[in-house]
Amino acid sequence: MSQRILFGTNGIRGIVNQDLTPEFAAKVGVAIGAYFGKKDILIGYDARTSNILLSHAVAAGAMSCGCNVHETGCAPTPAIQYAVKHLGMDGAIIVTASHNPPEYNGIKVVASDGVEIVREEEEKIEAIFFEERFSRVPWSDVGRLEAFPGVLEAYKEAIKGHVDVGAIQKRRFNVVVDPTNSVGALVTPDLLRELGCKVTTINGNLDGHFPGRTPEPRPDTLVQLSEAVKAFGADLGVAHDGDADRCMFADEEGEIVLGDKTGCIIIDWVLERHPKAVVVTPVSSSRMVEDIVRRQGGELVWTEVGSTIVSRRMLEVNSVISMEDNGGIFYGPHQSVRDGAMAAALMLNILAERGKPLSQLVEELPRYSIIKERVEVPNDQKQRVLQGILEETKGLRRLTIDGVKISFDDATVLIRPSGTEAIYRVNAEAGDEKRARKLADWGIELVKKNLEASC
Ligand code: MG
Repeated sequence: MSQRILFGTNGIRGIVNQDLTPEFAAKVGVAIGAYFGKKDILIGYDARTSNILLSHAVAAGAMSCGCNVHETGCAPTPAIQYAVKHLGMDGAIIVTASHNPPEYNGIKVVASDGVEIVREEEEKIEAIFFEERFSRVPWSDVGRLEAFPGVLEAYKEAIKGHVDVGAIQKRRFNVVVDPTNSVGALVTPDLLRELGCKVTTINGNLDGHFPGRTPEPRPDTLVQLSEAVKAFGADLGVAHDGDADRCMFADEEGEIVLGDKTGCIIIDWVLERHPKAVVVTPVSSSRMVEDIVRRQGGELVWTEVGSTIVSRRMLEVNSVISMEDNGGIFYGPHQSVRDGAMAAALMLNILAERGKPLSQLVEELPRYSIIKERVEVPNDQKQRVLQGILEETKGLRRLTIDGVKISFDDATVLIRPSGTEAIYRVNAEAGDEKRARKLADWGIELVKKNLEASC
């Protein structure tokens, strides 16, 4: 942990018992408790081995400031977020490391509207933590830890309220679910059964060692899902990350579909129901999104990369739908946060209504060759490299919200410093692979040239 910063792009993250010790977690809990004051807050967690160790340490800290802490137990992040807003809580603490490897865990703070707090609010908690401005209460006023049951059921029912249950049930879909041995297993298989699906679950037992696969759902980590879809002759495969706020899909042939593509299929369908609606998406998303939104007459708002930024912007502009290329789907009428089970239910609704298999819906999307590259750049050089690239791309059609995204009539290239790794990402896409390759090489060259110049 650096000197004055605790929170990264997705809360506090670290290795258990190295960065995240119980003492550290308790101190973070005191800072969060002092931030909230004497309020009622939820605490929930994913299925990691350290979930009780860390959540109870954080809870103890918050209780020492007079917070009453209500424990949901193991639950998907979006289920906890839903409960905060709809079951009358003042905020929440979620202990999860999302898609990170098993040795990691993390702490996220959610506001009363169910969305993670913004950076400025995190800075308030950091200031309390480092300056040790702890407002502990006398013994007579310490908070309590109480069980808070019913969160999973309320969440599941809410999702069903946003899809055409009858239409999905009629199709009797055969679905394989891979919740990566974590909390998605507590909701998605049951939800899909209630939607009339025949469900086969793989990696469905809760196990913080993640014996089935790494918790990040990507084409290369979802081999079992792909095989299972083929073996069971399923219509669809559904995979979540460790806290089930993301959802990746396999088509009926077992092919893992990139998040850009499933996101566009969902956006296309939602815009048909909400003409002229606002779509929010980070600059890392494919230009397919632009094509779809233009075709449907909607409005597109680009943001920086980061799910909290996307959620907050959705609320500002009253957006109904957003997507990230990593399988994040945000469905505004339900809640403006990434939601894996909601994404799965929407996809089933779309398949039921369109009457086409997922592979065909993918075929019908605008076609682009997408090349994603990375260039190593030390963190302390990132800004200078960016200044150089901004200077050199002056006059081109570009977005400079997060890195530089340059658009040509037939192609796009995004050159962006990673928020978490010492690299620049270069994403190029064009109608044909040769053009995409050329643009990616140009982007890589721009980064390298400006890195040399800054050294
Ligand atoms: Mg996640």
